[in-house]
Parts: sequence; structure tokens; C-alpha cells
Amino acid sequence: MLSVQGQSRAIAQLQRSLAAGRLASTWLFSGPQGVGKFTLAMELARTVMCDKPLRGKNGGRVPQLPGDFVLTLPCGVCESCRAVASGGHPDMHIITRQLIRYHDKGGKSKGTTLSIDVIRGEITGDQAEGKEAKIAKRAFRGRGKFFIIDEADLMEGQAQNALLKTLEEPPPETYLILVTTSPGELLSTIRSRSQLVEFGELPEGVMVPALAEAGLSAADAALMGRLARGSLGRALRWIEDIRVIEKKKAREGGGGDDEETTDKYTPEGILAWARELGAVLDRLVAGRNGASDVAGVMAKFAGEFAGLALERDKLASADRAKRDGIQLLMAMAGEWFADRLRQGFGVPYGAAMPGESGALDSRLAPQLIAAAREAEWQIDMNANDKILLAATTTRWEMLLREK
Ligand SMILES: [Zn+2]
Repeated sequence: MLSVQGQSRAIAQLQRSLAAGRLASTWLFSGPQGVGKFTLAMELARTVMCDKPLRGKNGGRVPQLPGDFVLTLPCGVCESCRAVASGGHPDMHIITRQLIRYHDKGGKSKGTTLSIDVIRGEITGDQAEGKEAKIAKRAFRGRGKFFIIDEADLMEGQAQNALLKTLEEPPPETYLILVTTSPGELLSTIRSRSQLVEFGELPEGVMVPALAEAGLSAADAALMGRLARGSLGRALRWIEDIRVIEKKKAREGGGGDDEETTDKYTPEGILAWARELGAVLDRLVAGRNGASDVAGVMAKFAGEFAGLALERDKLASADRAKRDGIQLLMAMAGEWFADRLRQGFGVPYGAAMPGESGALDSRLAPQLIAAAREAEWQIDMNANDKILLAATTTRWEMLLREK
């Protein structure tokens, strides 16, 4: 469990339950995307199912627990630990929306939600169809069995109701972990039957070293850490995207080899978007670009972002991916304007957004930021993306010219 960094409050809560021998049968792991919820759920399962768990004094490793508290950790070498690591443990059930491929015979479901077919097939069974309930079966290895539902908030109403019946009378030695970024999407009756574990955003001190370790320069790690807003999972996915783009470019561009020897390495993907967005905003501030130039750049990068997301997850919704892309670009623009505000106050950000423009007026900058935030919110409310981009960039231009 100590492999998950920056979540020592959650780890302390789980360790207390383990030490007391009172593990809840249903858990709700709630918090932002990509901060270690799923990883910690897997670690809890490994710990409970381990044949010879290690016990050792905390000694300050988990600050929320006393120094002489005895931590329980998976050994990592027993048959059970190795089976979990290889994905072949018979008592370890991981439920994701991607499983729809095995359970939807009609092919109606797009896999953007967790359907009743998946929940029946993987957990509760279905009497009418003579499908056995996996959750009612005895644990093969005798140390309990785990069902981890990823993106549990995507469960359809029917699926949630089916699950609720199971939670009302949980079979012995059975543990269910619901992993979610949006606990409010779950039935209140499910929430009230679950033991809540809350996860927070990861601090910079955890993010930046982890990103440097993943191969980014110190400056790029700091910038990406800021853009990812405390989500290491998100940042690591962006790094994968950068590798995908670079591979593609290397395949396409023939003369790339010559450039490599003379040019300094500059990563593609989100780091390139941040640089180019910064440049086009610089020109907007200087009056050399109009709103439509900015909107064009943002639309282009949002499209690239969506393309990568769909390549990674074939079941994802194309519309959602594009909206996520615009949201990301708006957030970046908001941060860029926020930097110009901070410069004015003489307290620049450690990892500044790329750009040349100096401080902006302290009355003007908050209005520019507000327009970006408003767009972030509106795109979530199903606003038309082209109109929203045009309206927001026009608003920026007008505000900048008014000064
Ligand atoms: Zn073990």
C-alpha cells in the first residue's frame, strides 16, 4: 500500500481497519481521477488475500498513524500475490465497462456505461437466464474474494439496483470496492451501505518527481504537474500520448534524423499545445491575432486530444472526448491569464505557462479568467462547441481591446 504516494490519510484508514480485523464488506473509494484509488483498491485486495502478509512497525511511513503502529502489507512473492500481479487470481474480480464485449449479446450497448448485463454477468448473476452469481461462490483460495468496480458511477440505474440487493446481504468473506470520481451518481442507499474512503488531489511534491521519473525534463515535469491538477494518472496518460504522437511523426517524416542532431528536444502533445496556445494568446494580447485565430488553434488541439482519447479507448464517446478536449484547452487558457494576473502582483507561479506577455491589468485579468471558466462549465452543459469557442475568444478580444 505504501507504493501509493500522497494518499496517506486513506492508507491510514485502511490500515486501522486491517489492524482491528474489521474490514467493511463494501467500500466506496471516492476522489479525483488518477490519484491512486484503483491502485490502492488492488493493494487492499492483495493484502487481505496474501498468504503471508508482512507486518512491521510504521515508524513514520504513514504520518497519520503512531510510530509503533503495526502496518500490514502484501508480501509480493507468495502464490496469491503473484497471481494478482499476473491478472490470474481466481478470487480477484475487476469490473470495468469494457467487459460489455463479453456480456452484451445484442450489441446494443456502446460500453459508455456499466450496464446491467455486466453487473449480472460479473457479480450478481441472473436467475431468469440461469447465470450463476459469482459473488455467492466460495473463495477458491480461502482468503476472501474481491470485486472492484471501476468507474462505478457509470452503473445504469438497473445495474445499481441489482447491486443494492447484494449489498443488503453481502455473502461472507466478500469484499466490494466501488471506485468513483462522482459518488453523487450512486444511489444514496448504496452510499449509505458503503465505508467511504476519500482521496485528495496529489501535491506537487509527489507529482513532479514522479513525472521526472517518467522521462520529462524538470521544467516539463513542473508544467505538466500544474496542468494535470493533482492527477498523476492523467499526466501519465498525457506522456503516453506524447510518445504516440512522436512515433507517428517519426514514421511520417523522413528527414527527422537530421533535425534531431541539431534541434533541442521539445515534446509534442499537451506540452506542445501549451506552448502554441501561449504563443497565440501572446499575439492576441499584442493585437497581432484575432479571436478566430485563437479559436482555430484551440479547436485544432481539442480535436487532436479527442483523437488520442478515442485511439486509447475505442468505446469512449467521440462527443464527450471533444468536449473534454475543449475543457482542457479552456483550463489552460485560464491558467495562462492567471499567470499574467500573478505577475502583476509580483507572485509568479513556480511552473509558469509558456508565454512572453507581461502582467495584465488586475481588473482585466479576472474577467478573462472568468470567461475561460464559464466556457469550461458551459461545455459540460452541452453547449455547441464551435459557438462556445467563438463566443469565448471574441469576449477575450473585446476585453483586451477595451483597456
Ligand atoms: Zn503475498
